Amino acid sequence: MEYDIVVVGSGHAGIEAALAGARTGMKTLLTTLNLDSIGFLPCNPSIGGTAKGHLVFEIDALGGEMGRIADQCTITRRMLNETKGPAVHSLRAQVDKSKYHEIAKKTLENTENLSILQAEITEILTEDQKVVAVKTHLGEIIKTKAVVLCTGVYLSSRIIIGSYTQDSGPNGFMNAKNLSSCLKNLGFKILRFKTGTPMRIDKNTIDLSVFEPHLGDESTPNFSKRTKNKFKNIGQCYLGYTNSETHEIIRNNLDKSPLYQGIIKGIGPRYCPSIEDKVVRFSDKPRHQFFLEPEGTQTNEIYVQGISTSLPFDVQKQIVHSMKGLENAWLMRPAYAIEYDCIDSTQLKPTLEAKHIEGIYCAGQINGTSGYEEAGAQGIIAGLNASLKLRNMEQIVLKRNQAYIGVLIDDLVTKGTNEPYRMMTSRAEHRLYIRQDNADLRLTEIGYKAGLVSKTNYNKMLKKKTGIEEGQKILKKTLSPSALVQKLLTENGETELKTGAKVKTLLKRANIDIYKLNEKLHLFDKYSPDVLEQLNIIAKYEGYIEIQQEQIEKTAKNEEILIPENINYKEMSGLRLEARQKLEKIRPINLGQASRISGVSPADITALTIYLKKNNLI
Ligand SMILES: Cc1cc2nc3c(=O)[nH]c(=O)nc-3n(C[C@H](O)[C@H](O)[C@H](O)COP(=O)(O)OP(=O)(O)OC[C@H]3O[C@@H](n4cnc5c(N)ncnc54)[C@H](O)[C@@H]3O)c2cc1C
Repeated sequence: MEYDIVVVGSGHAGIEAALAGARTGMKTLLTTLNLDSIGFLPCNPSIGGTAKGHLVFEIDALGGEMGRIADQCTITRRMLNETKGPAVHSLRAQVDKSKYHEIAKKTLENTENLSILQAEITEILTEDQKVVAVKTHLGEIIKTKAVVLCTGVYLSSRIIIGSYTQDSGPNGFMNAKNLSSCLKNLGFKILRFKTGTPMRIDKNTIDLSVFEPHLGDESTPNFSKRTKNKFKNIGQCYLGYTNSETHEIIRNNLDKSPLYQGIIKGIGPRYCPSIEDKVVRFSDKPRHQFFLEPEGTQTNEIYVQGISTSLPFDVQKQIVHSMKGLENAWLMRPAYAIEYDCIDSTQLKPTLEAKHIEGIYCAGQINGTSGYEEAGAQGIIAGLNASLKLRNMEQIVLKRNQAYIGVLIDDLVTKGTNEPYRMMTSRAEHRLYIRQDNADLRLTEIGYKAGLVSKTNYNKMLKKKTGIEEGQKILKKTLSPSALVQKLLTENGETELKTGAKVKTLLKRANIDIYKLNEKLHLFDKYSPDVLEQLNIIAKYEGYIEIQQEQIEKTAKNEEILIPENINYKEMSGLRLEARQKLEKIRPINLGQASRISGVSPADITALTIYLKKNNLI
């Protein structure tokens, strides 16, 4: 039996990779250590959040599944940063973990060209630096033309709770014992990272009356353009705080913390610190906030967001019982830390294929990232590229000005990461351009050309694009100071017009938006709400968008200057040693990527440009 693509792992990267391969006609096999871990959310019961929401909208625009699954099992959701500009608006949905697993599994099971197998892949077999097969723990050899590794937090993983350690995956799932050494033998550099999760407590043992309820917002959009159902709030989260007693307990037990005893060797996520880390690093803070989040609608388990720790279980109980409203809480699952192997992502091309072995792609936590959304984003690109390469079509490399996925992958393969990498809006220099609300305009065509987006959805996007182009002409129209226009302005506390003004000029007024304007003047009646949303942003942020466009045009030139794959940096004069070594290692595909490699100076880029010109390579 030979496959086109074998995907190793049924987490958030594996799901997207397998569906991308199978839905574009590749004979695909998805392997997992346990079918019950398909789409498992080992940590926070939520999808999206700051910058992570952007990734989910982008996965959806490319034809991926994460957004659609999340929409079908959302308990409550909010648009974060709504008071700020549209660039940082980020949707976050609390989801039902069991339903997420069920829907993901059902979707995979009912996908043509896709088979699912519960098996541990213990070895990747190669010939002449090219993948030919995988081997399972039962000794079965499965031939394949490509492999997508999406092994997450399971590679030689172990969990730590105080002095207790156990070779295990999350939540008692088995870990993968053998693949790390195989990857080492194949020349992959292996790193050791760590992450942690909080305790789960029984809802019936919490005094919810003392907590601040955090209600969802039913006017928020679905993640997926393909989701038909209207969202309804069916649950909520609660906000609480630690206190000085909690901090005292933690300080008094730091000697029992595996983190501070050095038992934990793996490097943890800076932006997702454990509670002991917060108490030590921010000792001036009298309290830290935490959220009580439902794990699902059919369970009493509550996730205590913000209190991840690896302190001993008895200390965990003291910590929980010291917090107001949790004095009698029953801990159903202990908090724990997990260490796991991952690879040095600078060994990958921007297509996520390994540089030194053809046909091996890597996606998700194995590349040093942390987060379901980061994993899903890499999974869809790796799966699509494995399929595109087998179909002799151009693979996808998204630019930093095109998508958060482009920023994510470029950071990984150009700079690498020495701690779990979490996506943030501050990482995206062109964030005003790559917002959640225009992900479909930026990426649907790419998904359509790759064969993952249907013609219907592609046409829907084109219709929206046409509406925006037409609407932009109306924005440039001049309105006379008619009674209706004056009424619109005065009713919204704005001063009257003295002479004519362009529609977009009116929209720049703080209290006027396109919805209020259209209610009065009906200039945009024929356009859909998502077209109006775009026109409103285009009018209000015109100046900033133009500045961003100039910046993009400035850097775009260097992105277009391609560097031959087999270029010999040793024969180049004017390059400093450090730059020569870094360029040799990363082998950037264009001048733009070369300029982002740490240790490569503008002078080195000049030397490289001169070399490319002298040898008629540009
Ligand atoms: C304890 C814990 C805490 C976390 N905390 C956070 C957090 O605070 N914030 C955050 O953003 N993210 C957090 N995460 C990370 C988040 O869970 C992951 O980022 C995300 O699940 C990664 O998705 P993935 O697809 O790369 O891998 P995973 O979801 O880990 O899935 C890996 C899959 O690979 C399979 N597999 C592995 N090896 C093999 C093999 N050899 N053969 C066959 N199958 C194999 C497994 O069965 C599994 O299906 C946490 C994870 C854990 C476990």
